[in-house]
Amino acid sequence: MTRKYIDCREFPSEMNCTVAISADSDAELLEAAVQHAVSVHRHSDSPELRAQLSQLFHEGSPPVASPRAA
Ligand SMILES: [Zn+2]
Repeated sequence: MTRKYIDCREFPSEMNCTVAISADSDAELLEAAVQHAVSVHRHSDSPELRAQLSQLFHEGSPPVASPRAA
């Protein structure tokens, strides 16, 4: 099983969010990512949001260095 992650540092955000979330399954990762997007970034939970988030998943673990630095 491959670990998956989503990294907020890849996206511009007004609050400079540096949260990265990782999980063993797409379903877990999606739930955590949706909760984060809703509670922190004030998105509303929708099929569109979930589709968008699931396209941003990467395999492996979040890098130590910020991808935003580039
Ligand atoms: Zn975030």
